[in-house]
Amino acid sequence: MTAHTLDHLDSPLLSQITTNAAGTYTGIVGDATWAAEVRRLADARDAVLLAHNYELPEIQDIADYTGDSLALSRVAANDPHSTIVFCGVHFMAETAKILSPEKRVLIPDARAGCSLASSITAAELAAWKAEYPDATVVSYVNTTAEVKAMTDICCTSSNAVDVVQSIPADQEVLFCPDQFLGAHVKRKTGRNNIHIWMGECHIHADINGDVLAETACQHPDSDLYIHPECGCTTSALYLAQEGVVPQEQVKILSTGGMLEEAEEAGACGDHGEVLVATEVGMLHQLKAVAPNVTFTPINPHAACPFMKMITPAALLRCLALGKDEIDLDPDTIAAAYRPVDRMISIGNSPAAR
Ligand code: SF4
Repeated sequence: MTAHTLDHLDSPLLSQITTNAAGTYTGIVGDATWAAEVRRLADARDAVLLAHNYELPEIQDIADYTGDSLALSRVAANDPHSTIVFCGVHFMAETAKILSPEKRVLIPDARAGCSLASSITAAELAAWKAEYPDATVVSYVNTTAEVKAMTDICCTSSNAVDVVQSIPADQEVLFCPDQFLGAHVKRKTGRNNIHIWMGECHIHADINGDVLAETACQHPDSDLYIHPECGCTTSALYLAQEGVVPQEQVKILSTGGMLEEAEEAGACGDHGEVLVATEVGMLHQLKAVAPNVTFTPINPHAACPFMKMITPAALLRCLALGKDEIDLDPDTIAAAYRPVDRMISIGNSPAAR
């Protein structure tokens, strides 16, 4: 039996795992003992550990690679390990499986969903496509495998503008499911033939214009890093146009783009303050690349409960028991591969770290 087919590996920490009232795996602290055990189990499973930028700090620190969805998708496709452990939400682990069907893909808690991915189903997309039979379908990577299988090109916040620009100008586009990213793409491309699905992420939608305006007025000299999924993106541009926030201080960036911008500020010896409008897990990486800069979240309560289900206990359980495994039928994988592969070939994106 090869390492990656092992179902169960013993660990002295397994007996400490319990669940809390919400059902999340808990009972283990992410300390040095845990870290050594995770590394031992990962080696025994021949597994690479990937962590999204919104994960808990201890999960980001133990991972082989951290990054945004696109960067981690690329790593998953090219990494030589036989098992991929994806510390993120379910659609991300599915995407890794679509790109590497021959590998075993594990997620520490398969219940870690995504409100944005849930905002469009395959049946809803089929009905929308029937209204616009000649349109090209662009789906944000935050979608289920079934929705991807009905999509022409996937995109992430890093390359959404490039992806839409790659489609002939006279071709109608259906963009789903994020209305804020869709509005950003429409603004940047100047296209009028783009139809936008009105979905949203409840975390990013809570970072709204009112919160942004209040915080920006309290910190008039600070730069603003804004993720295009945030409900406040339009407000930020409006505030800049009105002169409330100088235009050059407003930066609309993917999570990977934020890291590059912060790295540059850190390298310049910048000691300023940056207001950050995205999920709070992002601050861990930003502080690491630019320790001299003060990063302040626009909404300190903007924490994704799905990402935070990937606890130290969940990761240890995953590596020891080989659970939860992503299982997709071959037809869905084949149909979903094409739009994901096209996404990977279009546009530049920051690499995983
Ligand atoms: S922050 Fe929003 S878009 Fe990201 S995984 Fe959580 S629910 Fe989904």
